[in-house]
This record gives sequence, structure tokens and C-alpha cells, in this order.
Amino acid sequence: MAISDSLQATKHRIAAACVAAGRPPEAVRLLVVSKTFPASAVREAFAAGARAFGENYVQEGLAKVDELADLRGQIEWHLIGPLQSNKTRPVAEQFDWVHGVDRLKIAERLSEQRPAALPPLNVCLQVNVSGETSKSGLALDEVAALAHRVAALPRLHLRGLMAVPEPGPGALAQHRTMATLFDTLKTEGLALDTLSLGMSADLEDAITAGSTMVRVGSAIFGTRA
Ligand SMILES: *Cc1c(COP(=O)(O)O)cnc(C)c1O
Repeated sequence: MAISDSLQATKHRIAAACVAAGRPPEAVRLLVVSKTFPASAVREAFAAGARAFGENYVQEGLAKVDELADLRGQIEWHLIGPLQSNKTRPVAEQFDWVHGVDRLKIAERLSEQRPAALPPLNVCLQVNVSGETSKSGLALDEVAALAHRVAALPRLHLRGLMAVPEPGPGALAQHRTMATLFDTLKTEGLALDTLSLGMSADLEDAITAGSTMVRVGSAIFGTRA
């Protein structure tokens, strides 16, 4: 399927899931995950109307930002993979969003290194909602304390939470756990607007639970090598 067709099909899935959940379709943003796909694929998706792109690996993401420099200002670049503290500077300089923040040290470095000429860097805290030892992210009971500290950093804009629930029969419950945590933080006074939840396989569950941003790769670009 051409990228423009699979992008449209994905938008239809999102809209249908919103209708089924009684939510307005504009309540959910689509982040197109372009990891492992070349800059030419991003260009094709951009031409078909996509504007927000997610990359997992810092080096690969920076290379694509560079290759697509002519679209800078029109594309919003999101880092959705893990970030080590020795790689924060180029990320603070080149990306618009970072979804995988799970340590204060990383957040502090991003805030210090965010160039003054740019708006504050948008961040989401990553939550390990499934508790799998292989996954990064905060434990559920660690989230609130870090959220309040990150919200106070001057060059960051804490937007919300991100998670990758474990596929399987317990998935919807994990999506709902994330939505509850997101609501709790808002009642604690944090001005959050982004629940980054749902991928190609589980975006319907995520939208049912309350996701505001789904991160979709393979349903748009095809299976990764
Ligand atoms: C790869 C990836 C996605 C996209 O996954 P698909 O199954 O290809 O839609 C979303 N979020 C994260 C964190 C990822 O690593």
C-alpha cells in the first residue's frame, strides 16, 4: 500500500475509535513513527499531510532531521526512544519533544541545554506500566514526584505521560491505569495535555482509555526489517 493510503487508513482507524469512545476525533493526535525508514519515506508521509514524526534512536533521528532540513519548522520531531545523558545536547538542540524521560538527571540536562532561542522542550515522562524488567520507564509510584520536579524546570514544558503497555489480555487495563494516573496528576495541579499511548496494534484500546497521542509506525510504513 502506498504511504498516503496507509496514512489515510490509520486516520480512519483513529477517527472510528474516537467515535466508538464518544470522543471528538480531534482529541487524538497522530505521531508517525519513522524509525528505520529513510528520510524519503518521511518526505512521502509529509506530502500526504503528516506533520509530527517520531524517532527511537538519537543518531538516526539527527541524521533525518539533517536530511530534511528544508522542512524544518514544518515538521515536529519527537524522540520516543531511550536517551542517555551523554546524548542530551543534540536532542535538546534539534528535537521538539522527548517522550522517554524517566530520570531527573536527564530532564535537568535537557533543560540546561535547550537553546534560549527555541521554545521550551516538550517532554513526557515514560512509565513502565507493565512492570516488565526489560522496559525502561518509571514505576507507577515514582511518577508524581518526578512530574512535579520536571514541571519546575525552566526550559522544559512537561506535557504528560508516555507508556508501552504489554500486549495481551491485560493491555486495556494497563491503558486505563495510565489514564487514571494522568488524571490524578492533573488534579494535583499539573497542566498536562498529552497521554502518549497506543501503537499500530493497540491504538483502539489506547483511545478507548483516553490516549491523546498515538504513535504509529508499521501500520503506515510497513513491517520494519
Ligand atoms: C516503534 C515504536 C512505536 C511504533 O510501533 P508500531 O508498532 O510500528 O506502530 C511506538 N512507540 C515506541 C516507543 C516505539 O518504539
